[in-house]
Amino acid sequence: MRHVIFDLLNFLFPMYCPVCGTPMAIRKQVICLSCELKMPRAGYIDDAENPVAQLFWGRTKVELAVSFFRFEKGSKYQKLLHLLKYKGDKRMGIFLGQLLGAELLGSEFEQCDYILPVPLHPKKQKKRGFNQSEIIANGVSAVMGIPVETDFLYRDSDTDTQTRKSRFERFQNMENVFKINSLNIDIENCSVLLIDDVITTGSTLEACVETLLKQEGIKVYVATVACA
Ligand SMILES: [Zn+2]
Repeated sequence: MRHVIFDLLNFLFPMYCPVCGTPMAIRKQVICLSCELKMPRAGYIDDAENPVAQLFWGRTKVELAVSFFRFEKGSKYQKLLHLLKYKGDKRMGIFLGQLLGAELLGSEFEQCDYILPVPLHPKKQKKRGFNQSEIIANGVSAVMGIPVETDFLYRDSDTDTQTRKSRFERFQNMENVFKINSLNIDIENCSVLLIDDVITTGSTLEACVETLLKQEGIKVYVATVACA
């Protein structure tokens, strides 16, 4: 009986793969199996000198930095992050977080004590209704069993969001953007895993890392769903 209902639902409201546009046979799928298999995985997990890690060289200290997949401009896979960010598709965020978490299992990342999503500007979060990095972090957490901590690292509401600035100006602008609230949690001598949706220049993550490194004995790991 359940199959009949599913078949009927699929017939009436077919679900299409957001990457290739073909109808999906299984309703709970987020993208089709073929597109999941063909995802342009970065394969950076065991490579300490991968291009994402190199973004931080000479700028700040991270233990390891990786991305799950990489996309070129106009890639159909870029759409997955758009669906989360601009269409509020949280199921997509959890799915991408789970893929990232599965990739991190069995690696050095597993020893992290907390997962910290990169905070969104409070105004932006209010407008959007959610922080996409937090949704992804929840997916990572579900797979890795590491708790997500959202209050510790926060974004100062007085700072402007960045638009049309050079990398240096952006960094200057970012310098005091993030703050630490250690009232409820002691993160000294802990390893933390910073999560973001996508890394491009790395300025935002760099500013987060710099803020976190003010804590005694902290080790910072970085993982993003995608790198561009
Ligand atoms: Zn597909």
